[in-house]
Order: sequence, then C-alpha cells, then structure tokens
Amino acid sequence: MEHNLVTIATFDNVFEAELAKSLLENYGFSVFLLNERMMATYPSMAGDMYRVELQVADTDSEKAAEIIESLNDTSFVTELLKSENALLEGHFLLTSGKHSNKYIEKIRILQNPEVAFSICKRIASRIEDKEFDAVVGPAYGGIALAFEVARIMGKDFIFTQRKEEKMMIRSGFDLTNIKKVAIIEDIVTTGGSVIEVTECLKSLNIEVIVIAAIVDRSGGKVDFGYPFESLMSIAVPTWLPEECEMCQAGEALVKPGSSDKK
Ligand SMILES: [Zn+2]
Repeated sequence: MEHNLVTIATFDNVFEAELAKSLLENYGFSVFLLNERMMATYPSMAGDMYRVELQVADTDSEKAAEIIESLNDTSFVTELLKSENALLEGHFLLTSGKHSNKYIEKIRILQNPEVAFSICKRIASRIEDKEFDAVVGPAYGGIALAFEVARIMGKDFIFTQRKEEKMMIRSGFDLTNIKKVAIIEDIVTTGGSVIEVTECLKSLNIEVIVIAAIVDRSGGKVDFGYPFESLMSIAVPTWLPEECEMCQAGEALVKPGSSDKK
C-alpha cells in the first residue's frame, strides 16, 4: 500500500532529529529525515537556509506528532542520557561513601557538542524570562554549559574554580558590568558546589537571579534559597555499605570516573 510522506517536525540540529527518529522507531513507526546530509555538511547554515525535516507516512502522522510533542524536558534528557550511554546501571561507590545501582556519567553529556547545545537551548528557554548580565558555571562541568547558554542568550560568561579550597571567579574577568547572574550546573546532588558559588558571588555583591541544572539528583530536596530550575529531577537510590544488597550478593563495587569534586 502506498503512503504519502508528510513532515511532522523540523529541527535545526541533527542530534535532536536523530533522537526524535529513534524514539518514534521504538514505537514502530517508519521515519525519514530530510536534509540530514546537508546539515552534516553545512552545519553553520542550519536554521537559516534549511532545517532537518522528520517525515512519516500520512496515516501515522497524527500519532507520531503527538509523541514528538510529548517529548518534554524530562523525557528529552532521559532519552539523551540513554543515547550517550551516560546513565549507567551497576554497583557504584559514590563520593558520599554510599552505594547505588545507578550512576550518571555526566562528562559524556559534553562529549558531543551537539548534545550539549540541545541541552543548553532547553536550559536557556527555562530561564529566558529572567533578567541578568552574565551566566556563571562552576569548573569543570559547568563551564561548557554556562558558556553555551550565555552564547545562546547573548549574555556574558564567567566561571568559578577552587583556588586553595576556596571557590572564586577565575581571575582576569572584567566584572565591572556584572551585577546579576544566572548559575548553570550540570548535575546537582547535594548542591555543595553551587552553594559555594552563591557565597562567592555574595561576597562580590553580585546578585544571583536563578540557578539551573540539567539533572536534580536530589529528587527536589535541595533548596538554595534562589529560584532553581532543572530539566529533570530524579531521586537516585543510595544505601549505606552495610545495608547494600548488592554487597551482600557479592557484586563487584565500581568507583566511577574520578570527579573534580573534593
Ligand atoms: Zn554495595
């Protein structure tokens, strides 16, 4: 039986188009992407000259469009963590000393800049109603994200790093016109690094307007005392070593990628 193909969504980024395609294929739809090659060859012209078009058979279009529209921030980040193999399952030793059966290998989110760009667009749209002069990211995870969000929103970018244990803005930045900022972090667990950043900014009389993260791993428990946005909130289960069933079952304990946190 012949079907006409219809375009149900367009993207200015190959990664997002591929993600939507694989999602629909999981539901059993046949999906075609137009201009994907063009996008890979001339990425700088994307958006202005052409967009990647996602097409399905006209008989599938209504259902498929519904699925694409339901791809909210949480399901987007979930799909993305899966596609980048960043959501690991196993028996992990966390920096807190507790054990968990899940671990987010957050550095993989930055490995493909298109992935990072997609995320930053979503973060930017979550804070677009706020007024601020610059975007701040704590080293290292927050640097690339804050830079990209700043570029998308036409703001300045600065970053903080620890110097002799103390969180400070990297020296050399001109802070003369920076009065209000947004803080961007990759994953918030206890919120420790972000709190250090807010204290550093306070000491410089720079006002924090909003804090945003990709994943709130506290499952909504963290409270910074400032507006906080996260694309996805999950409570990662953790156990004390003596209460861990995976330990009792003799499963090998893995200490995942050493983090920059102390
Ligand atoms: Zn264990």
